Amino acid sequence: MSRILITGGAGFIGSHLCNRLISEGNDVICLDNFFTGSKDNIRHLIGNDHFELVRHDVTFPYYAEIDQIYNLACPASPPHYQHDAIQTIKTSVMGAINMLGLAKRVNAKILQASTSEVYGDPAIHPQVESYWGNVNPIGIRSCYDEGKRCAETIFMDYHRQNNIRIKIIRIFNTYGPHMDPNDGRVVSNFIVQALKNEPITIYGDGKQTRSFQYIDDLIEAMTRMMATGDDIIGPANTGNPDEFTMIELALKIIDLTGSKSSLIFRPLPGDDPKQRKPDISYAKEILNGWKPMVKIDEGLTKTIEYFDNLLKKCIV
Ligand code: NAD
Ligand code: UDP
Repeated sequence: MSRILITGGAGFIGSHLCNRLISEGNDVICLDNFFTGSKDNIRHLIGNDHFELVRHDVTFPYYAEIDQIYNLACPASPPHYQHDAIQTIKTSVMGAINMLGLAKRVNAKILQASTSEVYGDPAIHPQVESYWGNVNPIGIRSCYDEGKRCAETIFMDYHRQNNIRIKIIRIFNTYGPHMDPNDGRVVSNFIVQALKNEPITIYGDGKQTRSFQYIDDLIEAMTRMMATGDDIIGPANTGNPDEFTMIELALKIIDLTGSKSSLIFRPLPGDDPKQRKPDISYAKEILNGWKPMVKIDEGLTKTIEYFDNLLKKCIV
C-alpha cells in the first residue's frame, strides 16, 4: 500500500480519487487551498486513520514523505479560472515545479492532470495526442490553456533531465457528483437550471460540441495510468468519445429531469472551442483495454440525483 499525495483533493475529481485510493487501503494526504474545492466533498473521510487533510497552496513548496503524487490542484471551470487569471497560471506552473521538486526529493511517481484544453480550438477532429493544438496565447482562456501546456513542458523536462517518473493524462470534459453547482460548467449549469424549471442558458448557437466522460471512468483511467510501468509517461487522452452539441445536451437533460425549462441563448464566451472529441486509442492500448463504461444517460441520471439532493437540502 502506498502513501499518496493528492493536490486539489477536495475538488470534484480529487474527492473521488481520495475515496478510491483509501478504499484500496492507501494512506492519502489531501492537499487543497479550498479555492474551488469544499470540505463537504471529503467530510466523510475526516477522522479516517488513512486520511489527512492539509490546507496549503501549491504555489508554495510542500514537503512530505510520499510514494505517489496526483497533481490536480487548479480551478477547472472557465468562470473560476478566469476569476483570478494570474493565480491560475501560477497554480499550474509553480504548482508543477513545486510538486516535481517534491517528487525528485522523495523519489515519488507523479501524475499530472492535464486537459483537452492543450488542443485549444482544435483544427483536427477527433483529437489525437500527436496534435500540437491551436491555442490563443493571449486570450481569456490562456491562463488555463497555456498554464497546463507549460506544466506539461515542465513535467517532460524533469523527466528528461532528472529521470523523474512522470505520467501525463489529458482529461476531456468530465462530470458527476461533487461538481460545484455554481461553478458555471455546462453540465452543472444545465442540470440545476432544469431542476429549478429555469431557462437553460445556451452560449452561442449551441452547435459547439463536447464529449462527456463520467467521473468513475476517469478515476479508473487515472489509477490504471499511475500503475503503468516507468516507460509509460503519456500524454494520454482520457475521455468518452460520444459527442454532443450543447443543444442536444440541454434537450437530454430536460428529458431526464422532466423539466419545463425553455432554452435561452446567451453570447458565446471568447475563444470557446467549436468541437471536442478525444481519440482514446492510445489510452486503450496502455491501460489494459480501459474504455469508458458509463453511457451519458446513466451518468446524467446519477448526477441529476446528486444535484436534486443538494436542492432539497437548499444547498444550491
Ligand atoms: P475543481 O475546481 O473541482 O478542483 C480543483 C481543486 O484544486 C479544488 O479543490 C481547488 O480548491 C484546488 N486548488 C486550486 N488552486 C489551488 C492551489 N493553488 N493550491 C491548492 N489547491 C488548489 O476541478 P476538477 O474538475 O476537480 O479538476 C481537477 C483537475 O483536473 C484540474 O487540474 C483540472 O484542470 C483537471 N481537469 C478537469 C477536467 C474536468 O472536466 N473536470 C477536464 C480537464 C482537466
Ligand atoms: N456552455 C453553455 N451554457 C452554459 C455553460 C457552458 O452553453 O451555461 C457551453 C460553453 O460555451 C462551452 C460548453 O458549454 O461551449 C462547455 O463549457 P464548460 O464551461 O463546461 O467547459 P469547456 O468550455 O471548458 O469545455
